[in-house]
Amino acid sequence: VRGLEGRKVAVLGLGRSGLATARALEAGGAEPLLWDDSPEARAKAEGQGFTVTDLTRDRAFEGVALLVTSPGIPHLYPAPNPVIARAMAAGVPVDNDIGLFFRSFATRDWDAFDQMPRVVCVTGSNGKSTTTALIHHILSEAGRPTQMAGNIGRGVLDLDPARDGEVVVLELSSYQTDLARALTPDVAVFTNLSPDHLDRHGGMGGYFAAKRRLFAEGGPDRAVIGVDEPEGLYLAGQLSVAPEDDRVIRISAGQKLERFGWSVFARKGFLAEWRKGRQMASIDLRAMPGLPGAHNHQNACAAYAACRTLGLAPRQIEAALASFAGLPHRSQTVGEKGGVRFVNDSKATNVDSAAKALQAFPKIRWIAGGLGKDGGIVALQPHLGSVVKAYLIGHSARDFALQIGATDHEICETMERAVARAAEEAQPGEVVLLAPAAASFDQYPNFEKRGEDFMEKVKALL
Ligand code: ADP
Repeated sequence: VRGLEGRKVAVLGLGRSGLATARALEAGGAEPLLWDDSPEARAKAEGQGFTVTDLTRDRAFEGVALLVTSPGIPHLYPAPNPVIARAMAAGVPVDNDIGLFFRSFATRDWDAFDQMPRVVCVTGSNGKSTTTALIHHILSEAGRPTQMAGNIGRGVLDLDPARDGEVVVLELSSYQTDLARALTPDVAVFTNLSPDHLDRHGGMGGYFAAKRRLFAEGGPDRAVIGVDEPEGLYLAGQLSVAPEDDRVIRISAGQKLERFGWSVFARKGFLAEWRKGRQMASIDLRAMPGLPGAHNHQNACAAYAACRTLGLAPRQIEAALASFAGLPHRSQTVGEKGGVRFVNDSKATNVDSAAKALQAFPKIRWIAGGLGKDGGIVALQPHLGSVVKAYLIGHSARDFALQIGATDHEICETMERAVARAAEEAQPGEVVLLAPAAASFDQYPNFEKRGEDFMEKVKALL
């Protein structure tokens, strides 16, 4: 991290990204003051040789130049964390690791490079991780040096030093784009928008505003934007000089977009690229194993478009799309028995992603429930036509039972019982699908553990 030599910088949140931030600040000659509200996290940091400073005491922010916080900690809604409130009251600016990354990246000495490293950022409500991993996979397959980080796992300040011509691909959640004081990607991707995390953003307007910051004035050279919702349409229009302009690549899962300056869209299983009134490519996505369902075709369009802006050829991208294995816990086939397929989509934590999963298969034994989100799952009703029966688990089981109307269901409480009952009743040709439409925290530490539990129970039956 550059530009903070000799300055005191407070770091709140000592998870993976917080500790990476502390190391990067030290390496840049700053003096980090570390704190976490959880005693376990503080003990862990001390165990790794870090010194912890109490930031909850009076005058803790005297002489502090900056507070760097972690994405999980509320800074405004529903209420500011007390340490952040203290920093704000003292007039100390608040940033995150993403802001520090861009600040350092922008001030680097690029003379050492023949080919400038580039940064691609991916945001949106759903499909971020899949799109980020796809872009990274396509670039690697094409032999371009590349690293990925952000919400997908590795902290941005843990990245290795950039190599000549490298592409850094970052997945950014709304929490991350909201706070970062510098956000200057070369290419920015917006997959789609649906309600999620609204408590943290003070409503839908705040949520969209947080994501939009990636496309601010003087922002990316190229923008890849999903236009299947009004917010994406609006954003694409605002960033274009004229509809035939090709700074924005519009993407869609379903709409024809030939009339725009540059577009990539999927229809009936085929991806099409159009530029300045000419078709540049057509790719058959239907048999690609890592990309089942229309939602994954949207992700393929987004990744294809981003890689085209980086100079890759359609054929190179096509080959890499075909070899993409998919990410764990997203439309992941666990196994098959007696003509019944078992699919783990534990990452379907909100209504929109669950709706997509329910549209990807014709006959579904659906395992759902967990810690329900605001509004419940009433909005899923139009998508329940494929559900033969629901097996409901977790805290929201009884609420969900009321919200799915006439759909056949059974309250199972636990994953073990749900898998056993669904497997017992499933007929050949049906899919047993875990797509909870809820968070996992009532029964599991995270969605990964929930998905692993499902897979374990399934494998015991196979
Ligand atoms: P994110 O990182 O934005 O949460 P993921 O790629 O991890 O996105 O996918 C999250 C969930 O949403 C999974 O259940 C997946 O099946 C579903 N999904 C993936 N891509 C899309 C999309 N383009 N639109 C809607 N749902 C999607």
